[in-house]
Formats: sequence, C-alpha cells, structure tokens
Amino acid sequence: LIAFLLYLFYLVPPIGQLVQGGVQLQQGLAAMKRIKEIEDLPAEPVSAAVAGTGEPVGVTFQDVVFKYGDDRPTVHDGVTFEVPPGGLTALVGPSGAGKSTVFALIERFYDHQKGLITVGGRDIRDWPLGELRAALGYVEQDAPVLAGTLRENLLFAARDATEDELLRAVARTRLDDLVDRLPEGLETPVGHRGVLLSGGERQRVAIARALLRKPRLLLLDEATSQLDAVNELRLREVIAEVAAETTVLVIAHRLSTVTNADRIVVMEGGGVRAVGTHESLVGEDELYRELAATQFLVG
Ligand code: ATP
Repeated sequence: LIAFLLYLFYLVPPIGQLVQGGVQLQQGLAAMKRIKEIEDLPAEPVSAAVAGTGEPVGVTFQDVVFKYGDDRPTVHDGVTFEVPPGGLTALVGPSGAGKSTVFALIERFYDHQKGLITVGGRDIRDWPLGELRAALGYVEQDAPVLAGTLRENLLFAARDATEDELLRAVARTRLDDLVDRLPEGLETPVGHRGVLLSGGERQRVAIARALLRKPRLLLLDEATSQLDAVNELRLREVIAEVAAETTVLVIAHRLSTVTNADRIVVMEGGGVRAVGTHESLVGEDELYRELAATQFLVG
C-alpha cells in the first residue's frame, strides 16, 4: 500500500501546480507539506512497474478544446500542434496561454472535451493510465529537493536502478561536480536538513530523477529562477543531451533553450499562433519577437 501511495504521490504533482494564480507562498507551503509527507513515509522501494522503458514517443494535439469546468472559460480553443518522437520542442507564449494545461492534458489530470490527443500515435484515452504515466517523465518548475541524501533524492522513483544507471544519470545531468564537492558525495544529506542546492542544481537533480525512470517523453517546466552562466550552460547541455535520446517537451523560459529547440510552438489566446525555429520565428512572428526580447532575455 505504501508503495502504491508513493507511486500515486510521485505521479500527481502538487495541486498548487495545477491552480493558476497560486501565490509563491502557497507553493512553498505545498512543497513543505509534500516534503514532510515524504519524510513521514517509511522507506520502501517503488515497484519496478513505475519505471518506463522503450522508444521515444511523439505527441499530437488536433483541434483540442478544453476548459477546466462548465462554468470556466475555454483555455484551449482548437489547439493543434505536433511533437515528433525525439528532439526538443519548446512551448512558449504569454502567461495564461495554456502551456501548463498542455502538460496537464498529456498527463491526463484532465480530459479534453473535443479534438484528439495522441501519444505515440495512440489516442490518449486508449492508454491505460498507469502505462501512460510510466512513459512520461515530469520535471516541475522549481522542483523540491526531498529530505534525505542526494542518492535517495535521485532514486526516489526508481529504487531498482543499478549503480551504473545512477552514475550515468549523474553524468548526463552534469551533477558530477556537485557530487565531488559534497562532503560525503552521493551520501550527503541535502534539502532543508542538509546542504542547500542552488536553483540550477535542483532542476538538474529533478531531471536526473526523471531520467532514471527511463521516460519516453520528458515534460519539463523550466525553472524561471536566474541561473549563473555556468549553470545556464550546463542546463542547456543537459537538455540537448536528453533530447538526443528521448522526446523533450519544455515550457521554455530561457532564450538558451528556445534557440536550441528543434521546433517552437507559440501559444496565444487559446490556440497555436505559430510554429518554427528561433530564427524563422524571429523573422516571421511579432509576438515571438517580443517574447524573445523581454521574457527570455530577462526570464
Ligand atoms: P503561465 O506561463 O503563467 O504558467 P500558462 O500558459 O502555462 O501560463 P495555464 O497555466 O495553462 O497557462 O493556464 C491557462 C488558463 O487556465 C489560465 O486562465 C488559468 O487561470 C486557467 N487554469 C490553469 N489551471 C487551472 C486549474 N487547475 N483550474 C482552473 N483553471 C485553471
């Protein structure tokens, strides 16, 4: 039962993440509550069934219409775009454009009302929920570091991972330097009762944790926190490397991410306004140009 609860707990992001307009304090409290809940759980391995395996999968949205409730405004009003398997696709657009809602629909926290969503070429409604979520990796914005050692943080959702897999995930996410620097390496306690990690390190820990589950599609809500040049470069390298092996769909807040993306989907006003590369969109799309000039450069 505990393993099942842990499984559910890992797959369902904090409610606060789904509630637009939640203030940072609420998010902080939710994260603290979450950490506390995890601390209170006895250590027990998560079932191997949690881990996904297999080839990268693509995603399509075709004329997707969605609102959060009958009395709520329409968020997606005919959203259409395609994410081919493998590579890096970035979602951009002004606040409220419905980017996080794309993630919520892919994870099936909500069901769309009209249109078609496919994952791996299969109608999302035909996927057994556990199988779908096992295929997805999700890295939330400002992901919390859990109480415990760095190793426990990394293996939280993939206790069956081998030492080689763990070390590979550490290397792929450029966490080697951190491990070298920590007094007890991977066995060093981190989080609020241990060594505090920087925003960039926290996000890379979250990516490593997600990679250990071998996702076929990684959903990454990029942290908005400022990163120093070294952390910015590392994050860019990590995303590029992961995108060489699996499908990465990122809600992008950084210019370095969008300039490296294979394709960028610009969302606005309930739909998709443009799709292209950074170069093509700077030339063709006024909103994108504005976003690049403000959001990404200062974001
Ligand atoms: P941001 O960049 O600010 O995160 P976004 O593009 O990700 O914005 P969404 O978070 O998808 O946009 O929100 C789109 C709309 O849906 C907003 O009007 C928001 O208030 C609403 N919304 C988002 N989540 C929920 C929810 N769980 N319940 C009700 N309404 C929601």
